[in-house]
Amino acid sequence: MTRSSLTGTTQVWGIIGYPVEHSLSPPMQNAALAQLAINGVYVPFPVEPATLESAITGLWSLGVQGFNVTLPHKQAVIPYLTSVTDLSQAVGAVNTVWRVEMGWTGTNTDVTGFIAPLQHSDRDWSQARVVVLGNGGAARAVVAGCVTLGCAELWLVGRSANKLQNFVESWQASPLKRPLHTGLTADLDALLPSTTLLVNTTPIGMHPHVEASPVTAQQMELLPINAIAYDLIYTPSPTQFLQLASRRGLQTFDGTEMLVQQGAAALQIWTQQPPPVDLMRQTLRAQLGLGTSQEIKYQLSRSNQDV
Ligand code: NAP
Repeated sequence: MTRSSLTGTTQVWGIIGYPVEHSLSPPMQNAALAQLAINGVYVPFPVEPATLESAITGLWSLGVQGFNVTLPHKQAVIPYLTSVTDLSQAVGAVNTVWRVEMGWTGTNTDVTGFIAPLQHSDRDWSQARVVVLGNGGAARAVVAGCVTLGCAELWLVGRSANKLQNFVESWQASPLKRPLHTGLTADLDALLPSTTLLVNTTPIGMHPHVEASPVTAQQMELLPINAIAYDLIYTPSPTQFLQLASRRGLQTFDGTEMLVQQGAAALQIWTQQPPPVDLMRQTLRAQLGLGTSQEIKYQLSRSNQDV
């Protein structure tokens, strides 16, 4: 959509955050709206924490159709919504909001985004052991995703017994209550040989510390050859963690896919139309200065040859 094609009936979606100017969502969502030929725009709204409540009321009064929520508002927005899904209540955070008759409803599409690539794999999740590295905000979305997939056994591995315990206690009080096992980093070697899915939710390996990995090459060797390695980090792509997994011959997923799929899930809620996922992925990867999936496969096969 160009500025001259904005009309009196143009619908508005957006994202609230502070800061929000580095968000990758506006180009991705605007490309998708154009592809769907929807008379709509997606706008970044910088909202200072002190003005959150009035901003939410203002968005409603202005007829905004829905919005994404990013840092620092993902938890703080909840009291200003009419209702939230069980999923977002369990995660404790909302990232997608839409208009209902009496106000706003919110959910968490990070969960949908996380499981989207896994749903296409032919695993029997009811037999799967999942090991989640880290116990922060993203780990909550991952655990919610694994509960949704019906995974048999869920392990949280972290460096603080107290934080692990707090996570488990709050999870048991949530609508997605489910047994969770915990381990410290030193317990990892014993867990890996029967792990189906290993997920990194720590920032270890994120730009600029691109040589770091939450597991060593030797630990990667302990995983079964049919295991999946999933890193939530999207810069760099692939991370050192995923490069080690690829060299081991494992199936890998990176954080860009989760980012694309959470946006696609939000767009589907707002428009009730199938989102143009390929275009959204292409737009996001271009924003991140990353290659296409084909280029990445080529780079990985080159790095395998270098071993
Ligand atoms: P967070 O709430 O700060 O949690 C980070 C977790 O990593 C904590 O459990 C922390 O342990 C652990 N950790 C940090 N540094 C560590 C280290 N050096 N050694 C061991 N553990 C360490 O952050 P978050 O919001 O969950 O985000 C985590 C990562 O996920 C980030 O890289 C973020 O970019 C990524 N993410 C990606 C997406 C996506 O769409 N792809 C979405 C959300 C998040 P302690 O609790 O002991 O400090």
